[in-house]
Amino acid sequence: MKRTTPQKQLIEKEITSFSSFFNAEDLYKKVSKKNAKIGIATIYRFLNGLTKDGEIHSFQCNRKTLYSNSKKNHCHFNCERCGERKHIDLKKLDFLHQQVEGELCHFQIDITGVCKRCLNKLSF
Ligand SMILES: [Zn+2]
Ligand SMILES: [Zn+2]
Ligand SMILES: [Zn+2]
Repeated sequence: MKRTTPQKQLIEKEITSFSSFFNAEDLYKKVSKKNAKIGIATIYRFLNGLTKDGEIHSFQCNRKTLYSNSKKNHCHFNCERCGERKHIDLKKLDFLHQQVEGELCHFQIDITGVCKRCLNKLSF
């Protein structure tokens, strides 16, 4: 059995309170309000551990690491003309299952194209 401490319990509780993506600083802000003794290094170590255990999922967004406890994909649509980046939400992993040997956990997709606004500009 894993040893749990009040510190760990607090961090875990705060993680489950996020309904969407969060980063280490977001978590640190929440945790440090309740226990000022917990440092950001502890938060990073904790997040790394949970990621390895597959209990939370990690993604890259704007060169930052984001985490989630429920969302299993993080997808961007990048416009190659204006550089705008939009987040899109894919609901299902199903279409990937046949392509991968092994068990899927989470995924990240970066799609590049031309956004609506740029398309409208082109048609003038
Ligand atoms: Zn995962
Ligand atoms: Zn993102
Ligand atoms: Zn654009």
